[in-house]
Amino acid sequence: MSNLNVLDYLNNPSPRTLGRSPLEWLDRLNKPTVVRVAGRDRSRTRAMATLLHGNEPSGLFALHRWLLEQRTPEVNMLFVLGGVYPAKIPPMFSLRQLPEGLDLNRCFKEPFEGEEGAIAQAMLAELRNARPECLLDVHNTSGTGPAFAVTITNDAAHQALTSLFTDRLIMTDLRLGALMEYSEQEVPTVTIECGGAQDEHAHQLAYEGLVRYTSKPDVLSLEKAEWEVAVLRNPIRVELAPEATIEYRPEPSGHADLTFPPDIEHRNFGVVSPDEPLGWIGNKGLSILTAIGHNRTENLEQVLRIKDGQIYPAQAIKAFMITTNPVIAKSDCLFYAVKATGEPIF
Ligand SMILES: [Zn+2]
Repeated sequence: MSNLNVLDYLNNPSPRTLGRSPLEWLDRLNKPTVVRVAGRDRSRTRAMATLLHGNEPSGLFALHRWLLEQRTPEVNMLFVLGGVYPAKIPPMFSLRQLPEGLDLNRCFKEPFEGEEGAIAQAMLAELRNARPECLLDVHNTSGTGPAFAVTITNDAAHQALTSLFTDRLIMTDLRLGALMEYSEQEVPTVTIECGGAQDEHAHQLAYEGLVRYTSKPDVLSLEKAEWEVAVLRNPIRVELAPEATIEYRPEPSGHADLTFPPDIEHRNFGVVSPDEPLGWIGNKGLSILTAIGHNRTENLEQVLRIKDGQIYPAQAIKAFMITTNPVIAKSDCLFYAVKATGEPIF
């Protein structure tokens, strides 16, 4: 299948074609779409993917706003909007992927299965043709919380790209089939998690980051970085057993296996010391939880312990991706954690 069947193309779109709002624009898009904007320096290109998940709109909001302003970028820009199909299903921006479809950001690997695999392959071909000097993949997190970046390579270029948006960079050896894992072989790639999908701050951050990304002559040099970046290496995932129950309440009702306070999201990226309780555990104890390291080893004792029915960190930790959405907590994970120093727990 040729890319022409899989992707649509917009070159230097005029405000008239963009609609007055991002929703109007999305309504006009029919397929995953490539947007090209010519830069002052036509010999160079930077790339940005976004909307790989249909319910993560910050990148598309930022791009729409930026395109309406008709700015001339420093270098050519190549934008790729991945999850147009799930995003368009009413209510718009509510579905991560099509009901019967695959998660597009798990399809950047051989053998490029299904319709999503074809989209992933077409996106990679566009990127390869454009030979960009760098690539950003802009997402939102499921819970609210501060922005962070994710990379599989931690060097000056990746830290400089991160600093356009945030001061936290997570370096992971975990491989899932995400865009950055594939593209990193050819071009420095950073995934940007802008914060919650409903969060006005996240939309604003995506826009401000995009303005920096498109207007700076050099985005790959750390001397030119906006601020210093803290690197968190190989976080462990704390998962909840599928049959376990979780509640978010100021105090336990006695019915749930695990209870977190409703404001647990405020813990995101803060240091939690071993004498600070995180929540309450039911009769089943810690058996409902697993802590998984990047090499699939499990070791919960190094992460959590129980005292008098409450859960405490086993050592000072920094936790993130904490959500108060019980569906996400059960289907994805409860949270990620590193040592307070940013080093892996195990
Ligand atoms: Zn995402």
